Amino acid sequence: MRCHRCGVARESLTWLAPHARMTKRLQQHLEVLLSLLPVKHVAQLTGLHCRAIAVERTDE
Ligand SMILES: [Zn+2]
Repeated sequence: MRCHRCGVARESLTWLAPHARMTKRLQQHLEVLLSLLPVKHVAQLTGLHCRAIAVERTDE
């Protein structure tokens, strides 16, 4: 089932190392994206759930 907020069906981290947590590089990547786009859009681009992204953004 899809998240009503970000539209991501589920958290897919297949493009990362299977057991990797948020890496430094990913955090930096997300920060750049989030400076340009809303969380919802970043979620759809990255396949990350909005809640996973919101962890990186304490204000969201
Ligand atoms: Zn979501």
